[in-house]
Amino acid sequence: MAKITQPRFLDLSMAQQIAETHGTPLYVYDEALLRRNAESVLAFPNAYGLTARYAMKASPNAAILKLFAGMGFHIDASSGHEVHRAMAAGVEASKISLSAQELPADLGELLAAGIKMNACSLAQLERFGQLNPGGRIGLRFNPGSGSGGNNRTNVGGPSSSFGIWHEWVSQVKETLQRYDLTATRIHTHIGSGSDPEVWLKVATMNFDLVRQFPDVATLNLGGGYKVGRMPDEKTTDLQIVGQPVRAKFEQFAAETGRQIHLEVEPGTFLVANAGAVLAKVQDVVSTGAGGYDFIKLDTGMTELLRPSIYGAQHPISILQECPSENTRDYVVVGHCCESGDILTPAPGDPELLATRHLPEAKIGDFCVIDGTGAYASGMTPKHYNSYPEAAEVMLESSGVPRLIRRRQKLEDIWANEL
Ligand SMILES: *Cc1c(COP(=O)(O)O)cnc(C)c1O
Repeated sequence: MAKITQPRFLDLSMAQQIAETHGTPLYVYDEALLRRNAESVLAFPNAYGLTARYAMKASPNAAILKLFAGMGFHIDASSGHEVHRAMAAGVEASKISLSAQELPADLGELLAAGIKMNACSLAQLERFGQLNPGGRIGLRFNPGSGSGGNNRTNVGGPSSSFGIWHEWVSQVKETLQRYDLTATRIHTHIGSGSDPEVWLKVATMNFDLVRQFPDVATLNLGGGYKVGRMPDEKTTDLQIVGQPVRAKFEQFAAETGRQIHLEVEPGTFLVANAGAVLAKVQDVVSTGAGGYDFIKLDTGMTELLRPSIYGAQHPISILQECPSENTRDYVVVGHCCESGDILTPAPGDPELLATRHLPEAKIGDFCVIDGTGAYASGMTPKHYNSYPEAAEVMLESSGVPRLIRRRQKLEDIWANEL
């Protein structure tokens, strides 16, 4: 029988304290865990220097950006809006790198302010050349294979639109030449992986590209380091996956005399397990002998979309003042009038229900959904059913919870309507 989970960093008294002050649902981030994850990224094995970027789309609150920037992180931005958001949080433009599916209208101004850019398509390279002839550019390639967990998180290979397809090197070179551009950085980001073999394969494919661009001085291996959110899942050990990568950099230098600088840009790894959603049980219903017992929370896809779209698994814990003696298998659902608003889908299959073994739940119990530091607050259909955006709290290393985003006022939802 599956074990009852306990929250990763919240306990009943902290949950009560936070909920009394700020209500539920809300996101809580653990500063000590954020810092610990950041330290292990900064210790990534490297041969000729390391730049660590935080892929801010994972969790873009200014408090988190400032924390990582203060530890020496640079930023990977996925849109022009993210670039502005990072600058508004105080990050210097020169420390922001843009790798976007859609280029911003004000790209020229952002480049003039000093941001770096990776051209993610031939058209983007062309646009950069028009705006910035003679400039220095990074190239994001799709190296031809990916390692993502499923077809929605896979970001490499022929079925992925991210990056310039690796066979288009001659078109890239032609465009570089036409605008007198220098390619100084190669970038790939091909999705989740914790296997050192895969890392070595990725590094090898990348060096095949670096070889073809003599001015490239930096290789960016992207992010996508697998994090175990559930108790039985493993988290990537960066020291282990990084060793063969460092050896590859050294081997390349021995062959070519080129000492390539390493960039990494994790999002998930830094934040996923350092965040939780604190919610309350707002109803418990049953569909009879042939059916299910359901727990309905005051949160759901409005705060955490991943289970609904990927069948992603998140630890769920019930916190009770008088712990229940009994347990039950529950389907846990969100508060939206939407049958897809399920927090316990079958693993990897959002179409199917699964149950969780939990203490017998009562209305008003606290519920903690762990592993929600990444792609939760930053990726939600928060206004569906007109639920306001939830608050965010940083649990400081000192043990003090600090509000880092207010709960949205209801009327702000329709503030732009005319
Ligand atoms: C999303 C993204 C990342 C971070 O991915 P994680 O899986 O969160 O580590 C890194 N680089 C680029 C270009 C991205 O788009």
